[in-house]
Amino acid sequence: MTKKIVGGGLVLFLLAAVFGCNSSARAKTPMRAGTYTASARALNGPLAVEVKLSTDAITDIKITSSVDSPGVSDWAIELMPRRIIESQSLMVDVVTGVSITSGAIIRGVEDCLGQAGAVLAEFKRPLSRTRAPDQELSADVVIVGGGGAGLSAAATAAASGASVILIEKTGFLGGNSIVSGGIYNTANPEKQDHAPAESGVEKLITDALTERPVNEEHRALIEKVRAEYEAFKRTNKTLFDSPSWHALQTWNGGDKIGTLSIIQIMTNNALAGFRWLQEQGMEFYPNVTQGSGSLYQRTFRALMPNGTGYIKAFRDSLAGRNNYSQMLDTTAKSLIVEGGRVVGVNAVGKDGHKVTLRAARGVILATGGFAGNVELRQKYCQGEKWPDLGPSLNTSNVPGVTGDGIFMAEAAGAKLVNMEQIQLLQVCNKDTGAIGGNAYPNYVAGYVFINMNGERFVREDGRRDDISKSIMAQSEGYMYLVQSADSIPDTDKALTLDGRTVTYMLENKLSGWVSAATLDGLAAEMGVPAGNLKTTIDAFNTHIDTQRPDEFGRVLFNYKYTKGPWYAFPCKPAAHHTMGGVLIDGDCRTLRADGSVIPGLYCAGEITGVVHGGNRLGGNAMVDFTVFGRIAGTNAAAGR
Ligand code: ADP
Repeated sequence: MTKKIVGGGLVLFLLAAVFGCNSSARAKTPMRAGTYTASARALNGPLAVEVKLSTDAITDIKITSSVDSPGVSDWAIELMPRRIIESQSLMVDVVTGVSITSGAIIRGVEDCLGQAGAVLAEFKRPLSRTRAPDQELSADVVIVGGGGAGLSAAATAAASGASVILIEKTGFLGGNSIVSGGIYNTANPEKQDHAPAESGVEKLITDALTERPVNEEHRALIEKVRAEYEAFKRTNKTLFDSPSWHALQTWNGGDKIGTLSIIQIMTNNALAGFRWLQEQGMEFYPNVTQGSGSLYQRTFRALMPNGTGYIKAFRDSLAGRNNYSQMLDTTAKSLIVEGGRVVGVNAVGKDGHKVTLRAARGVILATGGFAGNVELRQKYCQGEKWPDLGPSLNTSNVPGVTGDGIFMAEAAGAKLVNMEQIQLLQVCNKDTGAIGGNAYPNYVAGYVFINMNGERFVREDGRRDDISKSIMAQSEGYMYLVQSADSIPDTDKALTLDGRTVTYMLENKLSGWVSAATLDGLAAEMGVPAGNLKTTIDAFNTHIDTQRPDEFGRVLFNYKYTKGPWYAFPCKPAAHHTMGGVLIDGDCRTLRADGSVIPGLYCAGEITGVVHGGNRLGGNAMVDFTVFGRIAGTNAAAGR
């Protein structure tokens, strides 16, 4: 077993055998020594390599440009050159979960070898692979899953002094959290006082406050929000918000299916979590916005692409801690239960060797949801809400997040709840389901949804499920998200969620992005009737002037469409998040059907099934993994 330092200085256990170290293998047939360049098609666009060759070996590989998912592709960019140089072979393993970028690097190097006159067969010798010996390791806390929740828990548990081992199935850290939109909801009055006032907010709040309470908990929450709102109205601030109002919207927006007490734990701790993230190095844009499906202007955008800022912050916080170690390419298979207590995890390495992990204080499952798992989607979602969640539906999820931990917990006695509650996200790439190519600097405030008849058809500031259903009911089953120079004043500065400029997207015709100087021109690019599109945008602007809700019920009218150029990209709903999963209490302890606690087992993040109910608000997933990751980390470290 070798130890290597990767990324933020974390200790990575890499198995030399898996990579088949073969550094003495040099080419028998001489090549023309020199520096060569090549480009290969990767996930989001071309990837460029620069390769230095001696007469008989690959001596250096640099990836000089790549537009693949940041945070994820970085792992291939760092590891693949090393693997190829160490083995002098193109037959190395790709980074698990990052196979497309890894493959592009291999093809780029192969191209360079070809240019140098190498005999390619000499670089395609099969590598000898030996199985690593079985391992048995122990720590105070064992965490399964290296996404947002697992890393939030790890950072917290390790900071408290507990020894922590985290295992991750793929070859990279971040899970679905790292490819997410990276938005975070929190009531943060200091920032929201400067948000533009909206007339529609009054109606949003009074509708929620005048609803007949369904139980005492609901009644108490309504009364709390009412009192807070009355007090707010006596100030000259512009936008009301509070953790209780955030909780009420989260509960209502999930059809009152979530567990209200747990939701309140999330919203009451959202601001503390936000500040804690900032202390770990996470950076947010200063202004508040309204994310897709967030239902309110309490969304903070991450400065770094997608969810990379969160994962970097957690990794930085863990870097250099000698009480923390992580094992990539290590898949948990089952929990070890002794005398009714969960005391460890049975896992396997990539080559099939056994990894047995013993936890003195607690095991945390943070393996995420199953929106990317077609079989489970179909099994659990039999209801009328989504008629077909089969293979024709795209997903925004990364491979590897397949619901594993949910069933390990179930096998240990946990109750599963709300498994049929599956979220589709409306703003996904029409062909791939990814969201990285989206750019909307003002989020909901600055965009409208247009169908192929050039018309609006739904409130853009509504719920994700309602919008997705409306898109699916349109004849083509997809829509265009339309913006203007009012939202995107400079295409060189406006960035997609994954950090590419809008200029780049347009020049390379990526994600279906189109633009035109006039609305007529945009309609032609989109293939919609120009007259309808113009009438639609005019009507939208009228609502900005009058601040009246429109026929779809939209209330967020902050930005008028005043000028071109105009921009659009097509979007189609894709499976995004699963709201159901393991039943937990407010301490992230795992519960059986009778409400009793399974000692030693904690769950946090998308694996859990009680937080979001029937529909998760956009921007609440980051709060979920941050807040409950911290709670699970604290409690497991203390063995509570
Ligand atoms: P969350 O937001 O709840 O943290 P993510 O999707 O971000 O969820 O992260 C879940 C992580 O768990 C992913 O990195 C995924 O690869 C990992 N994972 C899933 N199943 C297993 C497993 N059986 N063993 C180890 N890691 C797993």
